[in-house]
Amino acid sequence: MDIKFLDLHRQYSQIKEEVNDAISTVVNNQYFILGKELENFEKEYALYLNTKYTVGVGSGTDGLIIALRALGIGKGDEVITQPNSFIATALAITQVGATPVFVDADKDTYQINTQEIEKKITKKTKAILPVHLYGAPCEIDRIKEIAKAHKLFLVEDAAQAHGATYKGKKVGTFGDIGIYSFYPGKNLGAYGDGGAISTNNDDIYKRILLLRNYGQSKKYFHDSIGINSRLDEIQAAVLRVKLRYIDRWNNERNEKAKQYHKLLDNIKYQVVYPEGMSNYHVFIIEHPKRDKLQQYLHEKGIQTLIHYPLPIHLQKCYNYLGYKIGDFPISEGLSDTILSLPMYAELKEQEIEYIAKTVRIFR
Ligand SMILES: *Cc1c(COP(=O)(O)O)cnc(C)c1O
Repeated sequence: MDIKFLDLHRQYSQIKEEVNDAISTVVNNQYFILGKELENFEKEYALYLNTKYTVGVGSGTDGLIIALRALGIGKGDEVITQPNSFIATALAITQVGATPVFVDADKDTYQINTQEIEKKITKKTKAILPVHLYGAPCEIDRIKEIAKAHKLFLVEDAAQAHGATYKGKKVGTFGDIGIYSFYPGKNLGAYGDGGAISTNNDDIYKRILLLRNYGQSKKYFHDSIGINSRLDEIQAAVLRVKLRYIDRWNNERNEKAKQYHKLLDNIKYQVVYPEGMSNYHVFIIEHPKRDKLQQYLHEKGIQTLIHYPLPIHLQKCYNYLGYKIGDFPISEGLSDTILSLPMYAELKEQEIEYIAKTVRIFR
């Protein structure tokens, strides 16, 4: 067998005609930036999330940067987040001139350890930026209470978590702002870079619209120091097609996860909060001999990845923050033991059986 970590061809073959039509419509119109496709996508995505507004931007990273800027977060401010995430979560905080303050992960859910958040709040803290990691929700209602009690902004990094829910409500809609990535490999992926910001707040919405478009209120009149970060028409057109399928694909991923859970009963895997529903962006297991297991699976034709091999506080770019090994032991331990198995809606039952069997027989 030869099983890819993610096979986007299988998805494309289901929607080929619709996507090709959507792209050629844009190309035939020769209108590429801030047009009807984006306008419609923003409405449709807001409807999907059950929130007031969404704004399409150039990437998830840009979404986070614009979100923090829209809230006035910058130099001298602290933002609480986690060391076990994709680097972009922290990069956005430093890009606006603020300082990331890390809270370690919970050892079973891998989400930010809610219990530890309040201990890290100082006079400089402006916001909490938790991640819905691997597409599973963090304990967002409790985090929202903490933010409220301390008058902090809440920005959700839902870059991986399109359609995931907590107590039946879509993640990314609990806080002041939520952000999503449409990187091609995400559950809702564009055919290039892309991202979206969601909010229920009219003022924040207006600021975001300015910031993503050169701070422009009227053509060639600029009210704020904005950037150029807009979801382009081709990407919006592709995403409008895919948005019609996202629930089906997420449900199929949940079925695959169930199958993995059943077949991997002796293996430790990510726990989802009982109040939550994951979109299974990735399927994570823990193994004490992770590197050898990954090599073994590779020899058996199974491609896997590690999300992520080095926690953010130990990345070279953050040397200046002065963290050292041992500061966040759960995140560090996870980096050494986690492995992401193939997970996508089109993965076949026999493929999961083969993967699970291969994991189980490894010694
Ligand atoms: C993918 C991702 C981002 C960044 O999104 P891009 O669209 O790649 O810029 C941010 N945070 C997390 C957790 C992600 O997985």
